[in-house]
Amino acid sequence: MIDGKRRKEEKRIKDEDLFKVVDSTIDSRTYLSLIQLARKLQIKEYYGAISSGKEAKIYPALTKDGTWYAVKIYYVTTAASKRALEKYTIGDPRFKDVKIKTTFQLIETWARKEYKNLVRLYEAGVSSPRPIFVYRNILVMDFIGQDGIRAPLLKELSEEEINEDLYRKVIGELEKMVNIAHLVHGDLSEYNIMVWDEKPYIIDVSQSVDLQHPNALELLKRDIENINRFFEDHNISVELVEDILSRLKIS
Ligand code: ADP
Ligand code: MN
Repeated sequence: MIDGKRRKEEKRIKDEDLFKVVDSTIDSRTYLSLIQLARKLQIKEYYGAISSGKEAKIYPALTKDGTWYAVKIYYVTTAASKRALEKYTIGDPRFKDVKIKTTFQLIETWARKEYKNLVRLYEAGVSSPRPIFVYRNILVMDFIGQDGIRAPLLKELSEEEINEDLYRKVIGELEKMVNIAHLVHGDLSEYNIMVWDEKPYIIDVSQSVDLQHPNALELLKRDIENINRFFEDHNISVELVEDILSRLKIS
């Protein structure tokens, strides 16, 4: 009895040791999921959030064998994000059977959608974080960067690093994304591309849609325009949107 109690106490302390930073914004359900995930993936430590957006936060996690993961936690969303999810999933044949019920199911749908999109990108050889696991509202993927320090976003590069070679690589990844993975990013910009070792990584694909989505072409044009605008602003000569589109298998 006393031994059992002590073991329980020890286990509780161990679970708390998992978290290198106390984050009061993690709800108790997510907290328990993180503990289960740690057992499953041999995670030794979760570190403080490296980013907190409207709908998700990213935490670095370190495994017992020294591998870093990026853990993306989707949290309870607003009415606006519910509308956004519906907009992106309605019309996508892969999600025609998804019926949205509770808020928890809703955010879990976002996590699963991003995971599935990352799998498609990975299988198509697109440069993006390798998906590791999805559990409830938590997505685990390869960490882009080193020793828990994330790589810079395209937006954060110095002038010299923003060159024509990088522009071509970004357009190359976009081409693979469309022609091989059959996905349109839908929110591509200097904020959703990380650069590590002069190589771009496409991130944040929860809202990416299949080429069959009714808005696919419109979203694709906007993605290309965003990329062109960013590089043009940094005095790189860019290709015409039409010329890029002509190489893409989308009508
Ligand atoms: P949001 O919906 O909040 O924009 P993102 O997926 O864009 O979510 O991630 C937010 C930030 O977290 C990114 O800008 C980047 O700095 C960091 N990040 C995202 N994915 C990774 C990753 N795999 N490795 C390292 N850092 C990442
Ligand atoms: Mn983002």
